[in-house]
Amino acid sequence: MNCTPALVCFHLKGKDLSIIIDGHEDLATNMITFGRDYRRSAAETRTREIGTSTPGLNGDTLLGWEDYQRGQVALIIATLFSSPEKYRLAGWDITTFSNSSEAYSISMRQLDAYKKLTDDDPEMFRLVMSSGDLESVLNPWLEKPSDFPGTTHPVGLMILMEGAEGLKEPEEVEEWWQAGVRMIGPVWSGTRWCGGTREPGRFTPEGFHLLDHMARAGFILDISHMSPESALQALDYYPGRIAASHANAVSLIHGTINPLLQNRHLTDEIIRNLVARDGVVGILPMVPMLVSNWKSGDPRSAATLETVFAQIDHICQLAGNTRHAALGTDFDGGFGLQSSPEDLETIADLQKLDPIFRKNGFSDSDKTAILGNNWKRFLEESLP
Ligand SMILES: [Zn+2]
Repeated sequence: MNCTPALVCFHLKGKDLSIIIDGHEDLATNMITFGRDYRRSAAETRTREIGTSTPGLNGDTLLGWEDYQRGQVALIIATLFSSPEKYRLAGWDITTFSNSSEAYSISMRQLDAYKKLTDDDPEMFRLVMSSGDLESVLNPWLEKPSDFPGTTHPVGLMILMEGAEGLKEPEEVEEWWQAGVRMIGPVWSGTRWCGGTREPGRFTPEGFHLLDHMARAGFILDISHMSPESALQALDYYPGRIAASHANAVSLIHGTINPLLQNRHLTDEIIRNLVARDGVVGILPMVPMLVSNWKSGDPRSAATLETVFAQIDHICQLAGNTRHAALGTDFDGGFGLQSSPEDLETIADLQKLDPIFRKNGFSDSDKTAILGNNWKRFLEESLP
C-alpha cells in the first residue's frame, strides 16, 4: 500500500489489516469438554488452565475474543463435532456416540452452547444464518478495523456440522437446517455415507441420499475428511456449493504420512475440481497438518508461516488465481500452541502473513481475498 504522509501513522499502526474469516474452529467441543470460555483472551485461558489436564489433552489455547479483535477475525465457521464411539480418545472425550439419539444430544448441546453465547453476549458473538446476518456482522469490521480495547466488533459464528455419521436418517438434515446449521461435512472418519480419514471408500447409496437432502435444504457441503475417491464423487454429484473448511494439499507434505492422517489431505486433482466448482480451501496452519510424521513434543520450528504460505500459494498456482485459497485453522481442534508454527502464538498472529504475501509479490487485494474475502464471497453467494 502507498501511504500519503497523513496516512503513514495509520499504516504503521497496522490499521490497514485485512479481516480474517476462519473456516474451521471446534469452539463448542472446547466449551463443553474443557470448560473454555472464548469471551476470555487466550492468555487468560492459559493462565486459568495452569495445573489442569487441559493443556496436556488439547494443548494451550490459541483463541480468545481479545485475540479475534486484535487479529481482525470477523467470522468463524464454528463446528458441531461428534464421532462414533470407537474413536473415543479416553474417558474425558464426551463427543462420541453409540447411537443416533446420543449423536443428536451431543450436537444439540453444542448448538445450544453457541446460542447461549450469542444470546448472552451479542456484542461479542453473533450467529450467522443468512447473507443478511453475514453483512451485518462484517460491515462494521470493513468500515473500521477493531482497535481493541477501543473500537471492537461482534465476531460472527456460522455453524458447520463436522461428521454426520450419527444422523438418524438423511431426512434429519432438514431439522438441523431449521435449527441454524448451514454447512455439513458428512464424514470425519467412517463409512456410513462415504469414505473418510483412516477409512477409505466410496459413497454409499445412503450417502447419495444424504447429499440429495442436503442440497434440497440448501446446505454447503464440506469435503474435508472425505477419502479422495469420495471427495471426487461429491464434487461430481453435489449440485450445491462445496468447500473444504480445513485441509491442505497433500502434494506439499513430503515423506510418509502419519497413518492417523491417511486420506486427510487434498490431492491436486481434488483441488482442481473444487476450483472448477468455484469452491474454497481453508488452509490448515498446524504443524502436524503441514509436516509428515511430526508428532506431539517435536519442535514447533518444523513449520512456520512460510510453510503455511507455501500451501496457500499452491492452491493459487493450481487455480491460476487467488480466488480459492483461504484459511481454516482448526485451532484448539485437538491441538493448540504446542502444535502451532513457531511464529504463531495466538490466532492474531495470522496477520504476520502480510509481509510474506508482499515478499512473494501478492497484492493487497490478493492478501485480503485469501485472509477473508474469498470466504466472504463464497458465503454471500451460498447463504440464504
Ligand atoms: Zn477436522
